[in-house]
Amino acid sequence: MMTLHHKCHGCGSDMVFDAGTGTLVCPSCRAQMDVEAADARPDSGPKPGHDGTAAYHCENCGADLMALPETAATVCAFCGAGVVLADRVAGEHAPEYVIPFAIGREEAIKAFRKWCRNGLLTPRGFMTADRINSITGIYVPFWLYDLNSRVKVRAVCTKVRTYRRGDYLYTETHYYDVYRELDLHYLKVPVDASAKMDDAFMDRLEPYRYDGLKEFRPAYLAGFLAEKYQFTDRELLDRAKDKIRGFIESAIRSSFSGYATVTRVSEDIDTRHVESRYVLLPVWLVVYDYDNFKHNFAMNGQTGKITGRPPLSRAKIAAWFGGIFAGTLLAMKTLSWALGGGFL
Ligand SMILES: [Zn+2]
Ligand SMILES: [Zn+2]
Repeated sequence: MMTLHHKCHGCGSDMVFDAGTGTLVCPSCRAQMDVEAADARPDSGPKPGHDGTAAYHCENCGADLMALPETAATVCAFCGAGVVLADRVAGEHAPEYVIPFAIGREEAIKAFRKWCRNGLLTPRGFMTADRINSITGIYVPFWLYDLNSRVKVRAVCTKVRTYRRGDYLYTETHYYDVYRELDLHYLKVPVDASAKMDDAFMDRLEPYRYDGLKEFRPAYLAGFLAEKYQFTDRELLDRAKDKIRGFIESAIRSSFSGYATVTRVSEDIDTRHVESRYVLLPVWLVVYDYDNFKHNFAMNGQTGKITGRPPLSRAKIAAWFGGIFAGTLLAMKTLSWALGGGFL
C-alpha cells in the first residue's frame, strides 16, 4: 500500500515535523520547509503481504512497517523515517483539521522527569532510560461536535418577602408558574475516537485551543505516530451529549435565578447533532505496567497540560517523611506538593 515520505530537497533525508518552528526540519542537514510547501511523495503501489493483507514498506530502507489496523502514521523501526500511510488519511478517513504539536520531545521528556519528581519519590530503577525513550508523540483521532439543544422547562417557583408591621413579622410567599425555552449552542465538543485511549484520561487533557486548528496535511504527522478513528461520529454521539449535560443543567439553573425555590414540573431536552469534524489532536504518552498497575503519563501536545500519577516508593516516602519531622512547616508543604496531593 502507498506510503508518504517527506524528503529533504537538499539531501534526500526524511524530514520530520518540528514542534518548535512549526515546519518540517531535516534531521541530517537541518534544512527547513513550510508544511504548505511540502509535497509528500507517494511510494509505489500496493504490495500484498505474506498473509494476503496489504503491507506497507519504508521507501527509505525497504523494511516492512509495523502497522496495526488503526495506524495512520508511524516511524520506521529500522531507519527512523517518518512515514504516513496514505490510504489511512484519505477518503472517509481524511482528517479535516489537525492541531500540530507545539511542544517538542525534549520539553515532554523534561516534564516527564518532573512528573516523576526526578526519581525522588519514585521506586528505584523507575527512571530508566527505557521509559523516557518510550515517550511517544501521537496524534489521537477526535470528533468535534457542534450540538444544538432546545430546552423547555416548566417549574413552580416562589418568591418570599418578609416584613415587619407593628409587632408582627409577616412572611409573604408568592407562587409563579414559570416556563423557559432555551436555545443552546455548543461548538467543538471533543470526543476521542480511539479504542486504545482511555476516555476519561483523554478528557483530562482538555482543553485544546481550537484557534490552533490547521487544515490537515500529511506533513504534520511526519515523525509522529497517528491513529485513524475507530468509531464513527454516529457511534460516539451519545458521549458528546453526555459531555454537555452539565452545561445544559447550569444554563437551566441560571435561567431560573431570582426565585427562592424552583420545583420543576416538566423538562424536555432535545439535542440535535448539527455537525461533526474529524480532527487529530497531539498527545505525548507514556504507558507501562509497574507493580501490577498501569501507569499513564500524558501531556497535551499543544498546551503542556499533564494528567496521570507516577508510582511512589513507600520506602522513599518513609525516609523522606522521617527527615521532614525535623524540618519546618514549609517542608511539610513541599511534601504535600511532591505527592501531588491526597496520597497520604
Ligand atoms: Zn537534508
Ligand atoms: Zn526505513
